[in-house]
Amino acid sequence: MRECELKDEEATVALGQALARALESGTVVHLLGDLGAGKTTLSRGLIQGLGHSGRVKSPTYTLVEPYELPGVKVYHFDLYRLCDPEELEFMGVRDYFGKDCICLIEWPQKGEGILPEPDLELALQYRPEGRHAVLTPHTDKGAEALKRLSF
Ligand code: ADP
Ligand code: MG
Repeated sequence: MRECELKDEEATVALGQALARALESGTVVHLLGDLGAGKTTLSRGLIQGLGHSGRVKSPTYTLVEPYELPGVKVYHFDLYRLCDPEELEFMGVRDYFGKDCICLIEWPQKGEGILPEPDLELALQYRPEGRHAVLTPHTDKGAEALKRLSF
């Protein structure tokens, strides 16, 4: 496990960028935290850190936003509005969790039973100023990524 203080939005983006350098393809990351905790902000740092130069919009309405980046595909999920995990089956999401992509999942609780277990769990909590991040590995792949993480 690893904990860090994120004093402002830039720090959240910087942690995302550091993760971009540490994660290998085939990694599943669950992003936990209340609305506004910074899950999408962190995802933006990570996706842009992997070479995306455009915007990173919240996939709240589309449920998933794909990014084809140099060297790796990223699927950014936001399952906040998902009513039934079965919906994920209809979307064919099982095909998304391949070796060649990184999956970032906001509100993974909503997809319980269908989503794969995470390699890494990242929980963001409000602090009076800024945010507190807790990174917990759940697999060897997640543990290796945390060892490489330089932040
Ligand atoms: P979520 O996806 O978890 O609902 P967002 O990333 O969409 O949250 O929004 C987070 C909000 O909090 C944004 O307004 C962002 O500027 C702000 N924010 C992100 N990280 C921090 C931080 N470390 N300290 C203070 N504010 C932050
Ligand atoms: Mg979000």
